[in-house]
Amino acid sequence: MYTCGPTVYDYAHIGNLRAYLVSDIIRRTFEYCGYEVKQVMNFTDFGHLVSEGDEGEDKMTKGLKREGKTLTMENMFELATHYIEAYQHDRSEMNILKPHVMPRASEHVEGQIAYVEVLLDKGFAYKTKDGIYFDTAKFPTYGKLGGSASKEHTRLKENDEKKNPRDFALWKFNSELGWDAPWGRGFPGWHIECTAMSTRYLGKTFDIHTGGIDLRPVHHNNEIAQAEASNSKPYVNYWIHNEFITIDNNRIGKSLGNAITLKQLADKGISPLAYRYWLLTAHYRQKLNFTWEAVTAAQTALHRAWRIIAEIKTKGVVLEAYKKRFEDALYDDLNTAEAIAVLWDLLKDESISKADKKATALHMDTVFGIGFGNAASRIEKLKVSVVSEKDIPEEIQQLITERDVARTERNFERADEFRSKIEEKGFQIEDSPEGTVVKRI
Ligand code: AMP
Ligand code: ZN
Repeated sequence: MYTCGPTVYDYAHIGNLRAYLVSDIIRRTFEYCGYEVKQVMNFTDFGHLVSEGDEGEDKMTKGLKREGKTLTMENMFELATHYIEAYQHDRSEMNILKPHVMPRASEHVEGQIAYVEVLLDKGFAYKTKDGIYFDTAKFPTYGKLGGSASKEHTRLKENDEKKNPRDFALWKFNSELGWDAPWGRGFPGWHIECTAMSTRYLGKTFDIHTGGIDLRPVHHNNEIAQAEASNSKPYVNYWIHNEFITIDNNRIGKSLGNAITLKQLADKGISPLAYRYWLLTAHYRQKLNFTWEAVTAAQTALHRAWRIIAEIKTKGVVLEAYKKRFEDALYDDLNTAEAIAVLWDLLKDESISKADKKATALHMDTVFGIGFGNAASRIEKLKVSVVSEKDIPEEIQQLITERDVARTERNFERADEFRSKIEEKGFQIEDSPEGTVVKRI
């Protein structure tokens, strides 16, 4: 499988991380049911323009300007190296398995030039003043993946030599920077990177290609056109696209100015695994709207699961009935939301042995990847910090008061309901002789 990887000009935002998490779940699910998976994910370290079409600034150039560095190939490489390292850190913090091959586009330019040469030879490409373009009219099934390229993506005004608005750049000339090619110096187009690197490592036809839904109309239709026109073979058997993470129901995007990073989550006390857990509670083809309340509730739930598992010290066996329900959910188009619901049915089930409960939860965690294997040490490490009275949020204070009322009325069931509500909001309470102590979970 091939996963369109990050354009490494900035830190990954939490929307990008959904794309990599989804590819991780696909891989883990296939491995869970006995397939051998070879996963390739690229790093785009040049050539991805701000717009999906062939206009606007190159994202790496934008990154260099932002950091006050001059535009040279060396600086571009260095900038990318920094953000590749940051990406690897995020990936491992979120327990996303490392793809087997992680090629950098800048180290595979030869393969990209070879593709452009074949396309020129076969008559699928033509030269203009600013670059080599793919001639979509020569490829009748262009756009078959759907979400076909909108006019906005492919305005003609940038280059009046383009034969068709949908035609896209395979190579952009640049007299100063880039690589030498038989038709002149410059940069390969962004789309040819992925075609060249995926087929280099996976062959001309491979099984699964993943990426965010925004890549489908242009980038992925273009990848198909390039590969199939060159190789006269089907390119990819299955395309899998994840929906967006939104904030206030707007897409999160680096260029949209609303990006949140994993570090920003950590600064507010939300761990990468809690973020992973939150993503699993939705189906990958559903839009998911980020709120601090939602990720805090997810973290509370995850910690509760860790506590349940950490308390069980005995070894048991995997329960077939739960295993089947878990598999039915995953095999139904990777319904992780349902699989998480099955996990909670298991964790709350009082009729089964605790040891079997733990064994079954650990079994599920080979796909979930949410840290059940060392739940005990994670619980130990959780920084449970006491919240001083003045910092207790008003709504928590109100719930505490209502709980106190229930307790004085000796209505302990109701008091427990308030405790649960408080925990769902990320706080824990303890009764002490001096009154209620509030801690942040
Ligand atoms: P980029 O680094 O911009 O090339 O994007 C990396 C991956 O993140 C691609 O698969 C995008 O489709 C995906 N992506 C970008 N924004 C979002 C978002 N808000 N939610 C989910 N995936 C996204
Ligand atoms: Zn790609």
